[in-house]
Amino acid sequence: MQETGKNDLIVFDVEAVAKVPGPDALANLYDFANTLDVRHFTHHGVPHRQDDELTSAQALAVWMVQRKLARPDAKITPAMFEAALALRASLRDYLQHDPAKRRSKSATGALNAAIASFLLRAELGNEAAAALRPVRDDALSGLSVVAAELYDGARDGSLDRLKMCAADECRRVFFDRSKPATRRWCMSNLCGNRVKTRAYRERQRVVRICEA
Ligand SMILES: [Zn+2]
Repeated sequence: MQETGKNDLIVFDVEAVAKVPGPDALANLYDFANTLDVRHFTHHGVPHRQDDELTSAQALAVWMVQRKLARPDAKITPAMFEAALALRASLRDYLQHDPAKRRSKSATGALNAAIASFLLRAELGNEAAAALRPVRDDALSGLSVVAAELYDGARDGSLDRLKMCAADECRRVFFDRSKPATRRWCMSNLCGNRVKTRAYRERQRVVRICEA
């Protein structure tokens, strides 16, 4: 993705995005989904503090400016803020589905409805062979990069590796780099172990009850 110098329209360079392997091509998508941090486990005796980076329209503007998705003077209206939050909520709902079950309308319906606010148009003959430009031209246009990364990731299959941690007390979005792409937890030695240990204790409890 790059910005044009003349009119500050945000341009998505499809070729440049396609060349970047792994999560870099989905970096904005990944970061945006993880602006909501609902982790509430205790690690080494220290409780994790839940957080939301997008608590207001102004906070969203700051987040976008930091990623060069908006100009420093960007003014996000309440309606734009609502559209962004709807996009994030439907994105997180979509990502919590197992990749094998993401083709159904129940998995894609809400996300497709939300990204309808972030339409893209193709443009040929720019510096790159082709570029995707946001249709909207307001302060929220840069967030259309999420729609572009969803499109690219779905086309090349990398989106199936973007998952939500299966641990209820975590729910962090992570990129599965394992060869078979079968990881369920963001960190196996933390979330995976916690879930397995709990399941083991539960089995032991049931055994004790049955033996009693
Ligand atoms: Zn996790």
